[in-house]
Amino acid sequence: MEDSLLTRRRLLWGAAGAAGTALAAVGLPLLMRPEEKVKPAVPSPGSRAPVAAGPPGAVRKDSSVDYAPAVWVEACESNYTASERPESYPIEYVVIHLTTDILPVMFAKFKDPAERVSAHYMISATGTRIAQCVRERDVAWHSGSVWYNHRSIGIEHEGWTDQPVYVDKMYETSAVLTATVCAKYDVPVDRDHIIGHVEVPLSTHDDPGAVWDWDKYMNLVDTARRRIRT
Ligand SMILES: [Zn+2]
Repeated sequence: MEDSLLTRRRLLWGAAGAAGTALAAVGLPLLMRPEEKVKPAVPSPGSRAPVAAGPPGAVRKDSSVDYAPAVWVEACESNYTASERPESYPIEYVVIHLTTDILPVMFAKFKDPAERVSAHYMISATGTRIAQCVRERDVAWHSGSVWYNHRSIGIEHEGWTDQPVYVDKMYETSAVLTATVCAKYDVPVDRDHIIGHVEVPLSTHDDPGAVWDWDKYMNLVDTARRRIRT
């Protein structure tokens, strides 16, 4: 039996089955539109650490996703740091988040330069939709720590720390994504490297909280990772 929140979220993602439908409903641009992106000329507050990102003004085409099942929902370029990971910084961690808001609201935040926030991936509460908002080579601003941001992939999950609405499908979808990231960047599948936002040193956030079933999640990641290896 689904609760009303989950049902509402599913509706927000759109019966047509495209994230673009939900985004269009809140006035955001449609997805998958190839476009040229110019790196910001002025470093933002979240980019205090040095970043090897090519010559100023370099143009790159960023509309493709790093993970095939995802749809591209680009974050505002003021909300992340352009980089060339893993050459510029090693990717050593996956940071697990809960959004504490519905995804269309999160997409709008990522597109608002005043929010100063982003994540690489968003997964719907149903586990049926994945969006990529920042390229893996770039540094998303998700952990509250410049050091961890530069060395991690941030995955947001549509959910609330006080509402255990998770379905198995969301864990499974996320686990395959995390396993793929771990395989690509040689990140160990353990709790030292796959961490919650709350575990980032000096974190002021408590997600994913006690409702997140780490044992289930890590078992799924481990299983998915072994499949990738063989
Ligand atoms: Zn978080």
